[in-house]
Amino acid sequence: MDRNTVEKRVRELNDLLNDYGHAYYVLDRPIVPDSVYDQHMQELLSIEAEHPDLIFPDSPTQRVGGEILAGFSKVVHEFPMLSLSNVFNEEDIRDFDRRVQAGAGHSITYICELKIDGLAVSLKYENGRFIQGSTRGDGTIGEEITANLKTIRAIPLKLTEPITIEVRGEAYMPKKTFMKLNEARDENGEEPFANPRNAAAGSLRQLDPKIAASRNLSVFIYGIGGDGSAYGQDSHSDSLDYLASLGFETNKQSKRCKTIDEVIDFIESWQARRQDLDYEIDGIVIKVDGYEDQEQLGFTAKSPRWATAYKFPAEEVHTKLLDIELSV
Ligand code: NAD
Repeated sequence: MDRNTVEKRVRELNDLLNDYGHAYYVLDRPIVPDSVYDQHMQELLSIEAEHPDLIFPDSPTQRVGGEILAGFSKVVHEFPMLSLSNVFNEEDIRDFDRRVQAGAGHSITYICELKIDGLAVSLKYENGRFIQGSTRGDGTIGEEITANLKTIRAIPLKLTEPITIEVRGEAYMPKKTFMKLNEARDENGEEPFANPRNAAAGSLRQLDPKIAASRNLSVFIYGIGGDGSAYGQDSHSDSLDYLASLGFETNKQSKRCKTIDEVIDFIESWQARRQDLDYEIDGIVIKVDGYEDQEQLGFTAKSPRWATAYKFPAEEVHTKLLDIELSV
């Protein structure tokens, strides 16, 4: 392809992905399946890797999440809420493992977690009391949604210890609630939500907390914001135990894996039975467990080098309620 054709394609991909991202992150109403978004994103990333001079400031590869909705107060995150790099097949996973081992200089223990398909939230506690909750927003600035988050029973208003801490997690809508909600919306002539992720995001980004309260949302907490070792923890798996002891709901399906083959087994087993869960997952997050190793590996501008998200292949379903096919 000549240079002009490549540049034209890059600009086209930037525009398409920015439009898809706006519909997904800002309006909570995706206009294409995730698999389409992911394919375009991978194409753009590979062109940009070959032609770094074609990385434009508006490229979606340079940013996390979306814009902030008007009407909400803004919260500046003390520690950025980053995205995760994505892997799609066994070869990508083994490449990730090779990069990590080379960066750390020794073999690595991973922790695998279900990738809950919801909305990333940050919860701040001061002296053990819940004081502020926010969305990820663009990673640097989020929307303040404390009143909405207080309606979620799984979020403790008081911790078992009077500590000051920021935690991160994923708010989600259980599948059954989602089905009931869409049935009710259909009966009322309202437009159904595309999937539980968008329903959860749409419920939490409402100015009236009564709406969130009526939606039976829940949350899994998956990490400490900033430096977990400041709380005496040496690894991510230790932090998950600590978070559970503070009163948070953590996902019990996480598993420490000593080899990449174990990681792949974990992924395959969940890929086969993800439908059994009563919440949606869209992949498996693979994290380096030890904090010293994480620190050594560090971050890119957009995501940690010590973690990646394996995305399940799309399962296309045709809903009668929507004219487009959406992946779940
Ligand atoms: P991401 O979905 O690739 O991963 C990062 C997020 O994973 C975190 O912010 C966190 O919220 C979540 N997560 C869930 N469980 C976790 C766990 N155990 N540990 C850590 N994080 C966990 O990144 P993203 O930037 O939120 O979104 C990109 C994805 O969103 C794309 O891959 C695409 O599938 C989808 N998307 C779709 C459209 C569309 O038009 N359909 C548009 C934009 C984005």
